[in-house]
Parts: sequence; C-alpha cells; structure tokens
Amino acid sequence: MSMGSTIEWTDATWNPVRGCTKISPGCKHCYAETFAERFRGVKGHPYEQGFDLRLVPGKLGEPLKWRAPKMIFVNSMSDLFHDLVPDSYIVAVARVMVAAKWHTYQVLTKRSQRLRDLLNTKLRFAAEQPHIWWGVSVEDRKYGLPRIEDLRNAKAAVRFLSVEPLLEDLGKVNLRGVDWMIVGGESGAGARPMKKEWVLQLRDQCERNGIPFFFKQWGGVRKKSAGRRLAGRTYDEFPRRVTNPVLSATDCFKKAEEITAQLGAAEIFPLSLLKANRNEEVFC
Ligand code: SF4
Repeated sequence: MSMGSTIEWTDATWNPVRGCTKISPGCKHCYAETFAERFRGVKGHPYEQGFDLRLVPGKLGEPLKWRAPKMIFVNSMSDLFHDLVPDSYIVAVARVMVAAKWHTYQVLTKRSQRLRDLLNTKLRFAAEQPHIWWGVSVEDRKYGLPRIEDLRNAKAAVRFLSVEPLLEDLGKVNLRGVDWMIVGGESGAGARPMKKEWVLQLRDQCERNGIPFFFKQWGGVRKKSAGRRLAGRTYDEFPRRVTNPVLSATDCFKKAEEITAQLGAAEIFPLSLLKANRNEEVFC
C-alpha cells in the first residue's frame, strides 16, 4: 500500500495486482504503464517486470495493517477485473475490503462486464457494502457509455464514474443509479485536449440529478499550470462516507492469515509468473 497518493480524489493506493493491457482509447497514455516500464529490468524493484500483469499476494492483507481510516484506490497500477486475474483472487481482494471496513475503497475498472457479472454473483457479499465504491472509466461514447449500463446493472451500494481522460462530448448521459462523478483531462506529453463545454455539460447534469461532482484537472502538457478550477471554483464533492469500527490488531492478523490461506498456491503460482500479451489491441 502506498500512503499519501498524489491522486486528488483518494488518500492512498493499494495494488494487490500489478500490470495490465490496453483495452480502449482511454488507455493510450496509461500513466501506470509509463511508470512501470521505467523500472523494467531493475533488479529488486516492484516493477522489475515492467507492466506485465502479475498477482502480488504478499500485498493482499495490507489494508488490515493500516489502522487509520483512509480512502483507498484499489489497483491504481492495474485493473482488478482483467481477464487474467482469477475469480478466486478477486474474491480474496473483496474479502479484505469487507474485513477492513474502517476504510473506504474505490474500485475502478474498464472491464465493466466482468465487474457486473461478479458483483451479481461471487461478489454479492461485498457489492452492497457502503464503504466499497465500484466505478467504471468513461472516456468516450463508444467504449465509455456501455460501461455505465453494465455498472447500473450491477448490484452495488455505491456506483461511480471516472470520466477521465474525457476525449469527446458525451452528450446527455443516463445517470440513474450513479452516486459520484469524477471528471478530468489527460496530462503529459501528447495529451489529448478536453473542451470546457464538455465538462460544464457533465457538471450541469450532475447538479440536476443531485450527484456529487469532482473536477480533477484540466490536464495538458503543463498540468500544474492548467490547474483544476472550473467556472471560478474547485469541485471536490464526494459520496457520503460511512464510519465503521477498527478491528483489533489480533483480529486483523487472524483475518489476513485466513484470507491468504484460502488462496491455493496452485492458483497464484502460475499467474504470478504470467506475462500478458501487452498492448495487443490497437490503442497503443
Ligand atoms: S485499463 Fe489497464 S492499460 Fe488501461 S488505463 Fe487502466 S491500467 Fe492502464
């Protein structure tokens, strides 16, 4: 787990999976890939294997060790619902989130069909926990809007949209069942531009529907100077957070042991060595 994330809408990140593959245009300048690939081949570094997908079972129990309540972005360096992550491992991640319920979790994916299918079946025990927020990325109409439908059709107590990088005007969006929206532009070299009217239109739809709105950034090549003010102010709204008691250290230790023990080594071992076919899609 990494304390003190620089991501504006979270406090910390937790990465029990590392690495991913590109799936849609929003992935084109994936910050996680850029970061991870910088360390490929660096002996002993967590990203020695670059952005190749692998499970990190040693990280599974980390939220149970973190005593102060935090907002935790789950898998900032991967996608929990990637095809190559076994159901049993996703269930183990969810069991940790249910056990360490004094935190608030933000689970974000582009694999929305698998999110929907699992939330309605094997993840039912976690789906309707109000301290776990389930979200999908929405960058455009073609790939992003169907993800909102999948999310809406999933059993979930709290649903959110990360509309970042916003690549085009989304038009009128069906926001029924949505509890939070984050909007942001792309940053870094080659960043694709985001128009102010696209953002204002989304903000207005959130306001009309009483949905908390978080404006993350304008982005661009000089992200800092572009800032995050919209129409003369910042937007830092969140869904309501629930408060739950912190388990004793002994109970936390037992829980972590129990969850890890339920994961068979046979499942983890081959996948921990797995090399996904990176960037097999056309989005690089
Ligand atoms: S889905 Fe994977 S490749 Fe795409 S932006 Fe997210 S982490 Fe990067």
